[in-house]
Amino acid sequence: MALLRSTITSLHTASRNAFTLNSIRSLSVGQPRHKPSTNVGFIGLGNMGGPMAVNLLNKGHSIVVYDVSSEAVKRLEDEGAVAAASPSEVASKVDRIISMLPNSQHVRSCYGGDKGVFQSIRPGTLILDSSTIDPSVSKEMASLASKKGAVFMDAPVSGGVNAAAGATLTFMVGGEEKEFVAAKELLSVMGKNIVYCGEVGNGQAVKICNNMLLAITMIGTAETMNLGMRLGLEPKLMASIINTASGRCWASEVYNPVPGVLENVPASNDYQGGFGTALMTKDLGLVQGAATATHSPTPMGSLAHQIYRMMCNSGLAEKDFSSVYQFLQENNNNK
Ligand code: NAD
Repeated sequence: MALLRSTITSLHTASRNAFTLNSIRSLSVGQPRHKPSTNVGFIGLGNMGGPMAVNLLNKGHSIVVYDVSSEAVKRLEDEGAVAAASPSEVASKVDRIISMLPNSQHVRSCYGGDKGVFQSIRPGTLILDSSTIDPSVSKEMASLASKKGAVFMDAPVSGGVNAAAGATLTFMVGGEEKEFVAAKELLSVMGKNIVYCGEVGNGQAVKICNNMLLAITMIGTAETMNLGMRLGLEPKLMASIINTASGRCWASEVYNPVPGVLENVPASNDYQGGFGTALMTKDLGLVQGAATATHSPTPMGSLAHQIYRMMCNSGLAEKDFSSVYQFLQENNNNK
């Protein structure tokens, strides 16, 4: 029960994650806790990192953890992790480090800061950064790690808090190929698809490209559903036809943004839980940086970024990114 309680608590605010609780409950109950084996450092114990770290404990790893939030650290301590006072202290105690931080700046300060990992990293340490960040920052961190005799790989994830709790994440890994076997061994504890993507930064490149498409299809689904409903169509009927026709996509079929069309999605729970609008906005900002750097035209991705930025300014930052449907509704004044 301690595991169950903590796994649920680590997904923070019940409201934010209410739609995930049933599945997490069924995934967590009855999992055996083995004796600790090897030391792993884990930095960033939020909605994703918290349950990922619990899965390491479940599979017998002893872990040393750090987060700027003492509450997040306490939750993991209650599960059996050892707390460190800084990223530097984590690095001094382990030879493998996983990080799951919000954005590029957090990763830079966590690794390169005054009390950062690189202050005391041991030669030979393997770093796996699962945060979604700018691919160029992954390359920068890999270069700094290499000067210390360590290896940095980017390993961003696909799958949300349910997949983190259920150890079914997909990891997109970039870095030296000869290190991939060791990376895969550790990441397999937290995910089921571990894919090698090539040089460092390539994991991030795949991740942000996917999220650009996801944002575009989510906005398209939301505006399509909104229009159809204004034309008098019943939303479930409309979704069922789209999902057997050429407009079908993940956003329409698995994650429909209209409340009541699907159960167990954020749209049917006041857009609580899931993947936050603020995080999607951050990823779309990364896309724009990458598009500028590579002179790539991304008109739809650029527009999606603007829409998600406006949503953040309209009080939807903490809601799931499918709340773009609500945003479009609120912006239609000519009912
Ligand atoms: P979160 O905000 O819930 O967790 C981030 C954690 O990092 C927090 O506990 C915070 O206190 C901690 N933190 C911040 N700065 C720190 C620092 N300098 N040192 C140590 N800890 C620090 O975010 P999340 O939802 O867990 O997402 C983490 C990453 O995973 C993001 O890059 C996000 O884009 C990506 N991601 C999230 C999802 C999702 O569904 N939430 C899905 C895929 C990828």
